[in-house]
Amino acid sequence: MEKPWLAHYPPEIPHTLDYPKKTLSDYLRETTEQFGGHEAIDFLGKTMTFRELYEQALTFAHYLRTIGLKKGDRVAIMLPNCPQAVISYYGTLMAGGIVVQTNPLYTEYELEYQLNDSGASVLVTMDILYPKAEGLKGRTPVKHWIVTRMQDYLPTVKKWLYPLVQRKQNMPIVRIKENETVHMFRTIVSRKETAPIEVDIDPVEDVALLQYTGGTTGHPKAAMLTHRNLIANTLMCAHWVYKCEKGKETVLGVLPFFHVYGMTTVMNLSVMMASKMVLLPRFDVKQTLKTIERTRPTMFPGAPTMYIALLNHPDLPKYDLSSINVCISGSAPLPVEVQEQFERATGGKLIEGYGLTEASPVTHSNFLWDGERVKGSIGVPWPDTEAKIVLLETGEEGKPGEIGEIVVRGPQVMKGYWNRPEETEQVLRDGWLYTGDIGYMDERGYFYIVDRKKDVIIAGGYNIYPREVEEALYEHPKVQEAAVIGVPDPYRGETVKAFVVLKPGETCSEEELDAFMRQRLAAYKVPRIYEFRSELPKTAVGKILRRVLVEEEKKKLDKS
Ligand code: AMP
Repeated sequence: MEKPWLAHYPPEIPHTLDYPKKTLSDYLRETTEQFGGHEAIDFLGKTMTFRELYEQALTFAHYLRTIGLKKGDRVAIMLPNCPQAVISYYGTLMAGGIVVQTNPLYTEYELEYQLNDSGASVLVTMDILYPKAEGLKGRTPVKHWIVTRMQDYLPTVKKWLYPLVQRKQNMPIVRIKENETVHMFRTIVSRKETAPIEVDIDPVEDVALLQYTGGTTGHPKAAMLTHRNLIANTLMCAHWVYKCEKGKETVLGVLPFFHVYGMTTVMNLSVMMASKMVLLPRFDVKQTLKTIERTRPTMFPGAPTMYIALLNHPDLPKYDLSSINVCISGSAPLPVEVQEQFERATGGKLIEGYGLTEASPVTHSNFLWDGERVKGSIGVPWPDTEAKIVLLETGEEGKPGEIGEIVVRGPQVMKGYWNRPEETEQVLRDGWLYTGDIGYMDERGYFYIVDRKKDVIIAGGYNIYPREVEEALYEHPKVQEAAVIGVPDPYRGETVKAFVVLKPGETCSEEELDAFMRQRLAAYKVPRIYEFRSELPKTAVGKILRRVLVEEEKKKLDKS
């Protein structure tokens, strides 16, 4: 297979890499051996060294073994970015477990589905999220709950002030009673276990992570990512940013770690490169600007909406962003003006990349320094990554310029979907991952995205799967038919619009639907716009044609 993109690689980036037979936790141990005294984490001003991180993760791993965790058992982690999220992630892997990343914004309904689908026996979460988990007791396979508190890892002054913040923000005060199934995180890590844990892990075959992703085929499903998959993608990233030095970088961690993009480009990369990761539990523009000035990060992986929000903040000129050298933008198209403005504001480089959960996630990006960057392109495949275009009509490989589905192959491509052999067969053929994204490659091997086959709505950096929203709408007793699409939104990129046909004789307001949906789905998935219709466009066999609705919306916009 021809790989025209390799001709453009600068000499510093190898075409192929070595992947040692190691696990992710081996990397944490090795970094600790070499850089134990270096700061690994900055959380709102409180720091933790690699040695402390390693010791707490190991202690956590011992505890998991004490409560009966065996190799391959699943541990669900439902936490925002905080030291506890990093400790429990590496601790689970050290114990031989599989991490199931869980979005803290999930409703009880979504959480129940994910815990049952993954078969997680342990859930690690925050006190304020615990009532959601407690309500599910007996309805999922979870046997042990490990609960932490935000203030456990806050700097002393912030810890004292935390009750005031809770009161001011009307946060519920949750009191947790420890017993043989409910365990407090801080009690666990205070035990200080030091003996190494022997678990026989095959990094190539053994799954490290179940990462949930959607599709138009219904409920989310889990991509099985092995240690090798995640390590390969992190090593590729480390080579791509070759001017960044081991033990010298600071990475801004505002992308959530419960999504594989933040996990690879911030958490795993920092552990492998002995960089300090600066954790922010959520993306707040002002707090992010202040944190950049305070901690002077050199790397800032993010999503276009984040860069846009920072650039549009009125106080932007008051902050010094000059420490930022490297930004990789992924998850959605990066507008050229945003790229240019951000580079002017920081003096660093912002490049567009591309990937998907099933590929750990990154497969393509533009070059950062030497090597041509092509605006509007997702760039070229990373080392050891093959990519081609498959024509939709014939299934044959497309020539440069021809539009078809982007398919990729490489060591970062998942093992398959958890417990879903048929869906795995649909997307993985001969090791090639069919991405569902439509695009083309130019003569030089740069790739371009044209459209999304999968109908995913990307709003504010979050992926929303229309079918899931439609299914929730269908559960409303007055709804006869529903179709959900993404419509352009100046701030979120896209937003969710629902078309609803009510059952005959029924009346229903937008407010009523909105209240119903908010109980079932995380806020970011709830439609912002409703349109009531008497019927929806359909195919001859009665399948609703979302595409026609998208076109109608587009025409309306073109006219306005
Ligand atoms: P996820 O599995 O949540 O990481 O979402 C992956 C999807 O995000 C891809 O299949 C693409 O549709 C979309 N995506 C990622 N990066 C880009 C990009 N640079 N431009 C356009 N779409 C992108």
